[in-house]
Amino acid sequence: MLHYKAPLRDMRFVMNEVLDYPAHYRQLGGAEEATPDTVDAILEAVASYCEDVLAPIYVSGGEEGCHWDAGVVRTPAGFKEAYAQFVAGGWQGLSFPSEYGGMGLPMSLSLLKSEMMGTANWSFNMYPGLSIGCINTLLQYGSQEVKAQYLPRLVSGEWTGTMCLTEPQCGSDLAQVRCQARPRGDGTYALTGTKIFISSGEHDLTENIVHIVLARLPDAPPGTRGISLFLVSKHLLNTDGSLGERNPVHCGSIEHKMGISASSTAVLNFDGATALLIGQPNKGLEAMFTFMNTARIGTAIQGVAHAELSFQGALAYAKERRSMRALSGKKEPDQVADALIWHPDVRRMLLTQKAVAEGGRAMIYAAAQLADQMFAAAWAGDEAAYARHDSALGFFTPILKGFLTEMGVEAASLGVQVLGGHGYIREHGMEQVLRDARIATLYEGTTGIQALDLLGRKVLLQTRGQCVREFSRSMLALARPRLLSGGPLGRMARALAGRALQWNWLTLRLMLQARQNKEQVGAAACDYLMYSGFVMMGHHWVQMAFKADEALRSGQGTDTEAFYRTKIETAQFYMERLLPRADAHARMALAPAQTLLQTPAEDLAAL
Ligand SMILES: Cc1cc2nc3c(=O)[nH]c(=O)nc-3n(C[C@H](O)[C@H](O)[C@H](O)COP(=O)(O)OP(=O)(O)OC[C@H]3O[C@@H](n4cnc5c(N)ncnc54)[C@H](O)[C@@H]3O)c2cc1C
Repeated sequence: MLHYKAPLRDMRFVMNEVLDYPAHYRQLGGAEEATPDTVDAILEAVASYCEDVLAPIYVSGGEEGCHWDAGVVRTPAGFKEAYAQFVAGGWQGLSFPSEYGGMGLPMSLSLLKSEMMGTANWSFNMYPGLSIGCINTLLQYGSQEVKAQYLPRLVSGEWTGTMCLTEPQCGSDLAQVRCQARPRGDGTYALTGTKIFISSGEHDLTENIVHIVLARLPDAPPGTRGISLFLVSKHLLNTDGSLGERNPVHCGSIEHKMGISASSTAVLNFDGATALLIGQPNKGLEAMFTFMNTARIGTAIQGVAHAELSFQGALAYAKERRSMRALSGKKEPDQVADALIWHPDVRRMLLTQKAVAEGGRAMIYAAAQLADQMFAAAWAGDEAAYARHDSALGFFTPILKGFLTEMGVEAASLGVQVLGGHGYIREHGMEQVLRDARIATLYEGTTGIQALDLLGRKVLLQTRGQCVREFSRSMLALARPRLLSGGPLGRMARALAGRALQWNWLTLRLMLQARQNKEQVGAAACDYLMYSGFVMMGHHWVQMAFKADEALRSGQGTDTEAFYRTKIETAQFYMERLLPRADAHARMALAPAQTLLQTPAEDLAAL
């Protein structure tokens, strides 16, 4: 049976040896408390909470799901108790300002916490996870009064929050939002309309839920320029801050989903609910998207989470299950047959999972350092620095979100495959991981929307390829010292340098094609995103291999020789067996848009 163990050795390797987190925290304003000892103590404590409390209710929670009864939602057995422990540990406040009761530690630690909690139990992680977006929005745009009233209890975890964007007629295209907020003349608004698919929109973990809602004022211009942001509290607050009467926002139903069934996904009906305007009128979408990069990285983590969990389950099984003999002769002659792990094709599947989990982890942790700098600037009120870091992070975000969640689904599917028919049945929990993984490519912007954001906005429109030029320079800088070396590390360096040039060439070709035909951007976008993901992950694998090699040569590494050797061997696997997929994506990205658009819609089905 599936049971998560936190990969602390790998996490420490990436943090301490590859990305030098200790130096990063020393240089980061306001991160004095994030000393190596504190960070390590947090990792250990979160790991044991995840292994001992969240992992045991993963499969049972998924099987039971949430229950809806006349607007009341009950979470599966064990969730309330686990949430109470989460609140008692003060974990929600890890990276929020101490002024509101948080620990004031860097945001990257919150992302690491989320990785472990999400891998142990993604559905559970959704409840505190959605609050993070709500808290960040209030920190940046809430009035002093709103902050004082709502933040302490959100930061402590006593209340949770939601993000309400989606309506029945629109998810990706928020220009179509219809919810209305009418001013009452007393500083509050009456909000009416329906939001669907709202994660953690109703549940029994906390007494109150704070909804952040996109809606239109009566005189708002159409489209995205006429959307404002509101706070709607499930319970109105009395003047002393205690919970008052119920606000008319009700849960009409919860969705019955393919996966993450222990996470409540609510239809919320707002019937003239009392709402407070957050930020400027008609600037709601900008406010909602302020910390979107971090929220999307939070979802990118889901790809790593499911790759890791599925890998752990598949690896354990492949060592025990026996089937036939290795092609080169018996490997375990005293057994009835050799274990699955001896077969190259099973190795291919396991190593793909491992490469995605560990390569993705490195990608996330590198981006998390940028997120730290962005948040440090935001809390210090340095708008120029905030914009600079946000824009740097903006290039990585669609790649991480789109590529890692797609690869997370593939890795989870391979996990099912390693177990054969036993992966498809419920007993081992592997099919649950696959079902849970599937949502990640959809919410927080589908892969298609991430791809358009990457190629259309970030690469072509906003930077004219500059973001690719900058990143590929760091690839070349990494590769250069080893370009003439022999052996696997030299080969890796040359493959990486080749991709750095190829990425720029591909971007330039697409820029020229897009000038001729705008549809080429949409036609190429997904392949361009996958190309970028494979290449960026390649960069991180080469970086890890070089660090592992240094540790082996110097004998100064903190882990075992086998650990570093395995890193280099996994990097070799990645460069030889996964990175070549980038080349196919490059070719497909350059294929003319015409092949996608030439057939009239009515001719597509031959019924
Ligand atoms: C379990 C779950 C939890 C969710 N949680 C939340 C939540 O907490 N808060 C919230 O507000 N929403 C939430 N959502 C909604 C989610 O964010 C949306 O479903 C998602 O944004 C996609 O919108 P849609 O479903 O309307 O699909 P559509 O926008 O209709 O898209 C359908 C397909 O068309 C593609 N597409 C659309 N427009 C374009 C275009 N211009 N170019 C190319 N392709 C395009 C998309 O990529 C997609 O493949 C959740 C959804 C689910 C299922």
